[in-house]
Amino acid sequence: KNTVLSVHDLHVSFATYGGEVKAVRGVNVQLHKGETLAIVGESGCGKSVTSQSIMRLIPNPPGRITEGSILFKGQDLLKLSEKEMRNVRGKDISMIFQDPMTALNPTLTIGEQIMEGILQHENIPKKAASKKAVEMLNLVGIPHPEERLKQYPHQFSGGMRQRIVIAMALVCQPDVLIADEPTTALDVTIQAQILELFKEVQRKTGVSIILITHDLGVVAQVADRIAVMYAGKIVEEGTRREIFYKPQHPYTQGLLKSVPRLDLDGAALTPISGSPPDLFSPPAGCPFSARCDMAMEVCDRVYPVKTTLSNDHHVDCWLQDPRAKVMLSTISLTI
Ligand code: SF4
Ligand code: MG
Repeated sequence: KNTVLSVHDLHVSFATYGGEVKAVRGVNVQLHKGETLAIVGESGCGKSVTSQSIMRLIPNPPGRITEGSILFKGQDLLKLSEKEMRNVRGKDISMIFQDPMTALNPTLTIGEQIMEGILQHENIPKKAASKKAVEMLNLVGIPHPEERLKQYPHQFSGGMRQRIVIAMALVCQPDVLIADEPTTALDVTIQAQILELFKEVQRKTGVSIILITHDLGVVAQVADRIAVMYAGKIVEEGTRREIFYKPQHPYTQGLLKSVPRLDLDGAALTPISGSPPDLFSPPAGCPFSARCDMAMEVCDRVYPVKTTLSNDHHVDCWLQDPRAKVMLSTISLTI
């Protein structure tokens, strides 16, 4: 598989009055060409911090990438100067956020805004840029693009605005599009349309997508692979099938049980009880142990070794490791 982007051993911390919060604690993840990788988890799990690190948008201070590398086109993004990084943002890697209004300037027409993106990175005449803007609106399914280009953001519905933001993000044909909760602010019908649009633009442009979401419903619709994050770590990773039909981590299983399902009429919903650990002083062992029905003694003491279940499927859980029992007795002997 052709890897477009790979994150190695990423650690990110935030200084706060209460101490240092270790928001991301050794994330390893790869993005393959033309795929949609979803990073899923509850709020505060480190999924947005991971994506902001890729874009080098972690505000420093209080944030700090303390360790790791992010390889893209043979270079480590974490080693680029801010000026070099500005050329990567928008042109090679684009990002869109939950609320389209934050990405749009209410005082400029959408044509001006889309063209601004092109002219910033490409040396082409205005006329060509305007033609490109029309093409982009066509790509994202906005009817009558020539007229629409002259309008302002408030003249569009929420769903249309998110389409415009996607057009802006794709205008320089980036290799990677990072979408952080791109449909959370939209109602369910529009949400489905936007997710379908992601698939469509991916088919047409070959862009590789990282989708950040807390919503497994969103993931089911578009992800090729899924990485489940918990307390700053990826605890399970697999193809969509593997995660939905053969989830091995108790946290993944819990997430799946808490998704509303049409066939169960919502009745069988069981949210995971308890809350994630405090990341000022993350536990030495499995961070899920306090909430896990399957927890063994070893779980609290030692972080589980990653187990490989297939080419794509990996899980950090002692239940998968036959050595867990041995470890337990070894540890018991030393205390
Ligand atoms: Fe539960 Fe232990 Fe697996 Fe953690 S390592 S998820 S506590 S069984
Ligand atoms: Mg977030």
